[in-house]
Amino acid sequence: MRATPWPRVTKSGRLQVALGEFELIRRYFARPVVSRQDVSLGIGDDCALLLVPAGYELAASIDTLVAGVHFAPGVRPRDLGYKVLAVNLSDLAAMGAEPAWATLALTLPGADEEWLAEFAAGLFQLAERHGVQLVGGDTTRGPLSVTVQIHGFVPAGQALRRSGARAGDRVYVSGELGAAALALRRRQAAADDCAAAIIARLDRPQPRILEGRALRGIATAAIDVSDGLAADLGHILEASGLGATIHLEDLPMCQAVAAQVATDGDWSLPLGGGEDYELCFTVPPDREAELLETWRRFDCGCRCIGICEDMPGLRYALGADGLYVTAEPGYQHFADPA
Ligand code: ADP
Ligand code: MG
Repeated sequence: MRATPWPRVTKSGRLQVALGEFELIRRYFARPVVSRQDVSLGIGDDCALLLVPAGYELAASIDTLVAGVHFAPGVRPRDLGYKVLAVNLSDLAAMGAEPAWATLALTLPGADEEWLAEFAAGLFQLAERHGVQLVGGDTTRGPLSVTVQIHGFVPAGQALRRSGARAGDRVYVSGELGAAALALRRRQAAADDCAAAIIARLDRPQPRILEGRALRGIATAAIDVSDGLAADLGHILEASGLGATIHLEDLPMCQAVAAQVATDGDWSLPLGGGEDYELCFTVPPDREAELLETWRRFDCGCRCIGICEDMPGLRYALGADGLYVTAEPGYQHFADPA
């Protein structure tokens, strides 16, 4: 689409050769990092042409990251490129789908080549790891915002939906909860004592693609934890018409998060902290042995944290003391401020 030409000065004030939209796409995004057999036509025409294998459903999901909302304007572009794809892959993981193709909509205040090279490096690093081909996109000028749409496959009828949980199913989570929120909290406080491992949980989440795939046929429902466990498990419960009791002592947390919970005396990091991109899923009791056997090949853990019940609502049990009461609604873009 026609629009004003790109500026000739980078954010750092460096003068550079004018980089047009098409040259920008060619230089940074039309790269054969991954070439899939099921792509008849990739970047360069009005549409990409893609082949969905017979017997599979196409799983499609889109996520936008906006400067000042989802990331600080000074974020490292390599981290941003990685993360915008990671959050999309996490949605495929939560459906038990295998990733295939991505499209990228970029809105940039200017054509800063250093920024673009770094952004593309982060994006393609993860794309290569998961065999995802970038097949198209859109490039526009405006306030910084990045959108990826991801496409994947799942054998017809086998996707993990939010609505399949039943009373008596065990609630599980992969990995650990709360570290990304702890990293964000420390970063916002400009604390310099945040360990690299904690920062990595925020900047480099690992989409649980293999794990999600393995859950097909075992889990009755699944979701990825992007807005916090309470909010995201809440979606499964609502879609399934159930409630649940969660045992707080069983929440998987790294040492730093557990220490913070002990200091604060509140559980909002593991319950309300977003951006962990772990999987939360439900498993009938008679499939638990199979789950644990299957999970042995993965390097993240999985832990039973509670049970689905007919009574609606989310309840928290803490030791012998009984119920711990909290409201952890998770992050909502259009919710009224308290
Ligand atoms: P049109 O004007 O027909 O929408 P564009 O000029 O926007 O086409 O894009 C030209 C080609 O480059 C298309 O194949 C489009 O999918 C691709 N493209 C544009 N921006 C990007 C991007 N940021 N990443 C990957 N492909 C892109
Ligand atoms: Mg276009």
